[in-house]
Amino acid sequence: MNTASKLGRPERSGGRLSWRRATLVDQRFETPTARTLVLDVPGWPGHLAGQHIDVRLTAADGYTAQRSYSLASATGVEITVQRVEDGEVSPYLTDVFDISQLIEVRGPIGGWFVWRPGDPAPVTLVAGGSGVVPLMAMIRSRAENGIRTPFRLIYSARTPEDVMYADELRRRARDDGGLDVQYIYTRVRGSRIGVADVNTHAWPKDFEPSVYVCGPTGFVETVADIMVALGHDARGIRTERYG
Ligand SMILES: Cc1cc2nc3c(=O)[nH]c(=O)nc-3n(C[C@H](O)[C@H](O)[C@H](O)COP(=O)(O)OP(=O)(O)OC[C@H]3O[C@@H](n4cnc5c(N)ncnc54)[C@H](O)[C@@H]3O)c2cc1C
Repeated sequence: MNTASKLGRPERSGGRLSWRRATLVDQRFETPTARTLVLDVPGWPGHLAGQHIDVRLTAADGYTAQRSYSLASATGVEITVQRVEDGEVSPYLTDVFDISQLIEVRGPIGGWFVWRPGDPAPVTLVAGGSGVVPLMAMIRSRAENGIRTPFRLIYSARTPEDVMYADELRRRARDDGGLDVQYIYTRVRGSRIGVADVNTHAWPKDFEPSVYVCGPTGFVETVADIMVALGHDARGIRTERYG
């Protein structure tokens, strides 16, 4: 098997995903409450856009906590963590975890919610809040591979200040060619994503698009229901729920 066809396959040792040491080497805040962590993970096998990793924290007394985070990057290991107030793990990752410190990760995980650069179908991406993270990996993978497959991103955020990757999305929508980005600010307009948003901004079903929807469970179910009501084949709608 060549390297390309191995890319994105979960790395296993003894039939189980193995934990790897990951060092924080860079970081940036995407919003006041969302932080991108750039991790150095020796032996990282590579991944496909859409896959995620598990992160494990271990306290001095041996207590461990584990959560999943989507990979934000096309290459290298980057995640973007949205701080959940009162959360156990996310406030540590956004506010405490410091450069040169270690955590453990395993992955890449996931074989269905992935976009492959060779897929010629037009792509509709629908993000709710931090659900934009794996969709951003797809947009970055498209650019890094020099591909012009038409992409449409519908990004639902509470306010403009809650938009992650705002500058990069603006630049890519201007320069990448064939990337359309539409925002829905739910707190500003006082309503959630609806049929009209999807009908106006997503690829119509006749284009046989690949559809990726990611965000909180309620958001994902609402959008999937709208897509089906608009005639899309439910089996073709790929969803990732953040719970
Ligand atoms: C496949 C997958 C990929 C994920 N990718 C990302 C990612 O890229 N970025 C990211 O920030 N998160 C992501 N998540 C969510 C992440 O795994 C954690 O659930 C999240 O960081 C909260 O963990 P916590 O320990 O801080 O909160 P917990 O201590 O687990 O929960 C505290 C409280 O917050 C509620 N809560 C839990 N998660 C959320 C949430 N997302 N929004 C609002 N309330 C919540 C809980 O119901 C609980 O009441 C992903 C989840 C999955 C399953």
